[in-house]
Amino acid sequence: MINIAKPLIGKEEQDAILEVINSGMMVQGARVREFESRFAQMCGAEHAIATSSGTTALHIALLAHEIGTGDEVITSPFSFIASANCALYVGARPIFADIEPDYFTIDPIQIRKRITPRTKAILPVHLYGQACDMDAILEIAHEHKLAIIEDACQAHGATYKGRPVGSFGTACYSLYATKNITTIEGGMIVTNDAQVAERARLLRNHGSPRTYEHVSLGYNMRTTDLAAAIGLVQLEKLRQWNDIRRENAAYLSEHLAKIPGVVVPKVREGCEHIFHQYTIRIPDRDASAQKLRDGGVGVGIHYPTPIHQQPLYKGLGYHDSLPIAETASREVLSLPVHPSLTKDDLDCIIETVAKVLNYETILDRPML
Ligand SMILES: *Cc1c(COP(=O)(O)O)cnc(C)c1O
Repeated sequence: MINIAKPLIGKEEQDAILEVINSGMMVQGARVREFESRFAQMCGAEHAIATSSGTTALHIALLAHEIGTGDEVITSPFSFIASANCALYVGARPIFADIEPDYFTIDPIQIRKRITPRTKAILPVHLYGQACDMDAILEIAHEHKLAIIEDACQAHGATYKGRPVGSFGTACYSLYATKNITTIEGGMIVTNDAQVAERARLLRNHGSPRTYEHVSLGYNMRTTDLAAAIGLVQLEKLRQWNDIRRENAAYLSEHLAKIPGVVVPKVREGCEHIFHQYTIRIPDRDASAQKLRDGGVGVGIHYPTPIHQQPLYKGLGYHDSLPIAETASREVLSLPVHPSLTKDDLDCIIETVAKVLNYETILDRPML
């Protein structure tokens, strides 16, 4: 089986963990601070606050922007559920704006239609590792004085017109095991707003600027020096791994684009996609997915149900019609694209997709 994701944790990570264990300083120490500062650098942002997960990063980011009861946050219905749940955590209402069919990211035209006097923030999701249409989103945010909170949980190192994602407002990253870099579980908030950064640091750690002094209601959403030690090693490899993902994606697209009915991912002009997922549209998706799995290709569906149609949201009274997201959820299929794939793996993926769609062998060389 060719797996859809494979965390790359090796000797260097093991050595880094042992070093921390042997030092005896394991929670929120020097490694966490160093990881934060390197991460901020990677995003071209001033401050970074490490958290226990991408979800807690989003939760804290909204609180740090003082978003709460009665406020509305506009986000994408076509994402992992945490992109919307973070608004619910703080008592705000997620408002869904439909996506662009070519890029699967939130459509600025739809954002405009959803703005009300209660709108406090736009939460664009850089889905699959590709930046949203940030020029248009920045313009709307500026015009209506809205905060931008980027969900960059899938977009470590992605760029928009030469500028790193994560540098447009406050941004949240996940370091979960399947992301482009990982600390197994973990997250990061980055921001250029010193006040937001300070609030986020307090929220992460019991509202506590000093031991046993508590100035506000906070949480335990910290990370560990063990996680940071792994993260520091991973961060060094991010660029190289993203380059390999991009090469794998280009190779897959070159061949898969020839198969009738397959729609390969489109890269936004002037942007660096980091292919957290390589996601195509494919005819008869569910049956095709099963045949691919039977053929030894691990596939994923991101995401089979748009957020507004999840039982949780239906129960909350959501009955939006968001046709682009709904169609995408029926047609998308993610294929393996991670950096440990071999050329043979890539050829096998291509051949298996061709076979599933009854398309003749499209590679020049015979299958192994
Ligand atoms: C992974 C992910 C999250 C949540 O991150 P966790 O670290 O799993 O909590 C949020 N949004 C998106 C788009 C994600 O892919």
